[in-house]
Amino acid sequence: PAFPAQRSVILTGAASPRGIGRFTAHYLAERGWNVGILDLDAEASQKLAAEIAEKHGVAAAGAGANVADESRVRAAFDALEAELPQLVAVVNLAGVSSPVPYLEVSAEEWHRVIDINLHGVHHTTKRAVETMVRHGVGRVVNLSSVSAQRGGGTFSKTAYSAAKAGVLGLTRSLARELGHQGITVNAVSPGPIDTDIMGGTLTDERKEKMAADGVLPRIGTPRDIAAAIHYLIGEDAGFVTGQTLNVDGGLYMH
Ligand code: NAD
Repeated sequence: PAFPAQRSVILTGAASPRGIGRFTAHYLAERGWNVGILDLDAEASQKLAAEIAEKHGVAAAGAGANVADESRVRAAFDALEAELPQLVAVVNLAGVSSPVPYLEVSAEEWHRVIDINLHGVHHTTKRAVETMVRHGVGRVVNLSSVSAQRGGGTFSKTAYSAAKAGVLGLTRSLARELGHQGITVNAVSPGPIDTDIMGGTLTDERKEKMAADGVLPRIGTPRDIAAAIHYLIGEDAGFVTGQTLNVDGGLYMH
């Protein structure tokens, strides 16, 4: 089946003011995608959707849900799909960092991070691909992290790396299962990106140190990631599946 002219993408974790998701939502809308926003706070999601609709002249809708809560995710998707043209793509950006060293990590912290960063991806993806399978076309993009591939070495520690590595396994396995149904499943793996996820610890000095570690002498921007996502959800990326696109300035070469 062909890509529909009127197509929608749902982004999770797109409401934070300086995040990758918000930038990507605008970037995709500017390029003709209708946009659904799913984040913790319903009001913030709806406000962003209204901004996007106004600025880019596309359909946009927002809903609130904790991605760790499967029934809330399903309800939010129902609401978003009711307001949007055909759902073709889902981008899983909702995530939390966790700088706790392994020997200090509590059971609560471990489960919080895995519940949001791994189970959350499963909940939204499962609901999204149910729609995509019916139409015979779909794109899933999951945000992993260089910390899953290099054994941390960034702000977050083991629980985060474990969850983000789990995302890569989910991505590859699902790509294999759903290829025959016209659905591609890929991951984007960012290096350090200038957002607020590191809770104010990303000082200029730290940015310089992180940049010095890579082949390209800077840290990344939300635009770097948005461009990769735009490519992977596009019609022309239909022969690319099960891949991890590293957007990390050369930190991890593979
Ligand atoms: P961010 O903190 O700006 O955005 C994360 C978003 O997820 C926020 O809008 C937040 O409200 C939302 N969120 C958190 N918990 C949620 C939950 N339980 N349910 C629903 N939404 C929830 O961070 P960002 O830097 O834009 O990160 C986006 C994604 O990219 C994350 O998955 C992150 O792990 C990944 N990533 C970021 C970097 C980086 O350096 N910034 C590097 C590698 C990977």
